[in-house]
Amino acid sequence: MHITCFTVGAFQVNTYLIQDEATGASAIVDTGETDELVKKLLAIRPVPEIQMILLTHGHLDHAGGLIALQSKFNVPTYLPRKEIPLFETLPVQGDWFGQPAFNRQCGRIDHLVDDGDEIQLGKTTLKFISTPGHTPGQGCYYDEQDIFVGDTLFSGSVGRTDLPMGNPAIMQQSLQRLVQLPGHLRVHSGHGPVTTIEHEKQHNPYLKFLRQA
Ligand SMILES: [Zn+2]
Repeated sequence: MHITCFTVGAFQVNTYLIQDEATGASAIVDTGETDELVKKLLAIRPVPEIQMILLTHGHLDHAGGLIALQSKFNVPTYLPRKEIPLFETLPVQGDWFGQPAFNRQCGRIDHLVDDGDEIQLGKTTLKFISTPGHTPGQGCYYDEQDIFVGDTLFSGSVGRTDLPMGNPAIMQQSLQRLVQLPGHLRVHSGHGPVTTIEHEKQHNPYLKFLRQA
């Protein structure tokens, strides 16, 4: 899989253009909160043939730009099923973050994904693992080499659980599941640099409880 990261917007969120190398089939992971990602994609020559939009979770910085993206790339959009209640708060989330100008309407969702679901992108099979805690339905998409974790796990940190609908106890269970995935997986987070599952297992202070288990 060929991966291009675009860090966009006031929240410096990582959005991803992922391309199946065998077929060129492409997907977008997360959207930013404005049309900045759209402009960056349209500046690529040739413009990538986007086949789907995958949302890790429903926070403003990850899903707020969905309508803008769908206005140029009108493709099927996937959201974790358990994330619907949070996604529907997009019109008021700007207030939560002290940025009322960023209150956004919800874009269109075509497919709801559940733990264990698989999505075919060209010859690449993406699996979905549900990792709630940061939000009620946050999840990750992964293949044999790469995982897109949204705000579940960061290099040296984990997603905050103090926002509305966050849950620290459920987050611990999700992290427990996440680190059981193959250690070589490259972890592409919603914010910050690339890391690996193994590196975080060894060094992430927030995963210390797993090492003691
Ligand atoms: Zn988030």
